[in-house]
Amino acid sequence: MAAKVWWADASAGAWTEALVCKAKDLFYEAGLNECISKGDSVAVKIHIGEWNRTRCLRPELVAAIVEEVKACGGRPFVCDTTTVVYHAYNSRLNGQLKLENAARHGFVEGALGCPFVIADGFSGDDDVRIEMPEGVVLKEAYVAAALAQADAMINLAHAKGHPITSFGGCIKNIGIGGQSKRGKYQEHLAKWGSPEDFIGWPAIYPDKCLGINCDFHKQCMDGCHRGAILIDETGFHHDPEKCYLCYSCQVTCIFTGHECVTFVGEYFPYSQMAMSDAAKAVLKTFEPGKVGHMAYCIDVDPNCDCIPWATLPAAPDIGVFASKDLVAIDTAILDLIDAAPAYPGGANKALEAAGYKRGQEKFKITQSTSPRYQLTAAVKNGAGTMDYELIKYEPPLTAAHVAKWQIRTTPTTLIQRAMWEKKDFLKAVQPFQRVPFDKRPPLPEYEVPDRTPFLKKLPVKEWVEALGK
Ligand code: SF4
Ligand code: SF4
Repeated sequence: MAAKVWWADASAGAWTEALVCKAKDLFYEAGLNECISKGDSVAVKIHIGEWNRTRCLRPELVAAIVEEVKACGGRPFVCDTTTVVYHAYNSRLNGQLKLENAARHGFVEGALGCPFVIADGFSGDDDVRIEMPEGVVLKEAYVAAALAQADAMINLAHAKGHPITSFGGCIKNIGIGGQSKRGKYQEHLAKWGSPEDFIGWPAIYPDKCLGINCDFHKQCMDGCHRGAILIDETGFHHDPEKCYLCYSCQVTCIFTGHECVTFVGEYFPYSQMAMSDAAKAVLKTFEPGKVGHMAYCIDVDPNCDCIPWATLPAAPDIGVFASKDLVAIDTAILDLIDAAPAYPGGANKALEAAGYKRGQEKFKITQSTSPRYQLTAAVKNGAGTMDYELIKYEPPLTAAHVAKWQIRTTPTTLIQRAMWEKKDFLKAVQPFQRVPFDKRPPLPEYEVPDRTPFLKKLPVKEWVEALGK
């Protein structure tokens, strides 16, 4: 039977069509309230975004769901996990850095309405080992303790592309983001976790290393938390015995525009499959019916929130999704991203260069690998189904529905009315200095000077062309 996926688009022209209002509606339309019993400890799993990242989830998008978890009688906490190193300046590798970063993005109790928790602890080693005999690639996973020990979970993702797994939606939000630090190493397919699966090794082309003449060579060495890289007068040296596969050397080299340390091509599909197995492991820590999935598909950056910058999106804002099926929701999101026109500029340049036609897989072009491996693997391991029924949600424009999601359910004008009654406000702000209407100067003509000569001199030609005019 097809799994139901609810979707509300990102357009709005009335109170009821605000994205947070639609998200609250979908929470109930998709029956996610049924996942929560009174008194349940409820994990709301998010991705906080890397330092200096701007196209990531915003606190009010999360607070909207926290409010409904509370309305259902749940005791919510918002959470994310520590990460492995990833690059020389990662801001999420331990509890202190993570909390500093979360606060900078506004993920604090005052904004969220509940505590923000590091789900795998200060050093990322607070986890629960899960056997995965059904895994396509992984046979074990290490789930962050806060998820494994919660009674229920709302898997609240931001849908966007990803440089390793091509797409990051609900599967990735728990498949990577729900694992402890060793869980992440494990699914990176490094020898540290799975001796038989070494395809995660950095692909090294020493001839392409500039050695000590590379401005970044010190960062390159310091960026390896295992001290496995040496760059000296004789070039680039890598000690595979020390390497844990943290991505730092690859990412540092790629970020700096060089091509010495990168990935082997076949790593990417396998990384998706491992991620789907780890996502299934998270689901296994909950009783049936205790997990709901939601995703905001806005700011669809071709790269993930783990990248320390944001670029122009691959697609326009699609909206918000909700489902009880992990695979169905990501399948629906990917289908709608591919059905949408390409966003001007940014990733569109790569799409245009590849002769992209609407309906083709955008991330297969921008990230070089189809994102559908993760869906296929997640079906195989039993995490869900790609067979879905999409239900387009339109909020009713009624007085009752308008009132439902406001800051107060009764008009705030009544508060002002009471304020006027308690205090003579008119007297307090009088007298107004008014100009009688018939004495006002005539409205001047609106001037529209010819700006063309000036605009021609601005260095914007390239920018305008990049945006597709
Ligand atoms: S960033 Fe790349 S090119 Fe530069 S030193 Fe490191 S490996 Fe070599
Ligand atoms: S050599 Fe291994 S451990 Fe060191 S930065 Fe590269 S991937 Fe990470």
